[in-house]
Amino acid sequence: MPNEPTSGLTPTDVTPGVTALATDGTYVVGPLPGSDEESATAWMNDGNCRNYPPAVFFPSDGVGVDRARKICAECPVVEPCLEYALEQRIEHGVWGGCSERERRRILKRRRQATTQR
Ligand code: SF4
Repeated sequence: MPNEPTSGLTPTDVTPGVTALATDGTYVVGPLPGSDEESATAWMNDGNCRNYPPAVFFPSDGVGVDRARKICAECPVVEPCLEYALEQRIEHGVWGGCSERERRRILKRRRQATTQR
């Protein structure tokens, strides 16, 4: 059952897709407050993770990461999701089909590519 959005949310509080972690520790299911079609987070409205519990995207082992990746693989917004997580430097959870470690590697490769130009 969706909770009402709680004040105090920021873009980096959100879990993948449209689920947000409120400052009181409860989950908010539904579009981010103020997330209209023009917003930078509008893609979240189409995320497959809307249909799963938030914990699926915060796995504690490799099996859980693989499960989340499979959901992301079928997601229509996998590319904006990954870019968002990279831009926002989101450290936790599976976003855009990538674990925290994978995102760190992508960022490192991008930094290296930039410095080699
Ligand atoms: S790519 Fe994965 S984490 Fe991102 S919105 Fe889709 S299902 Fe959610």
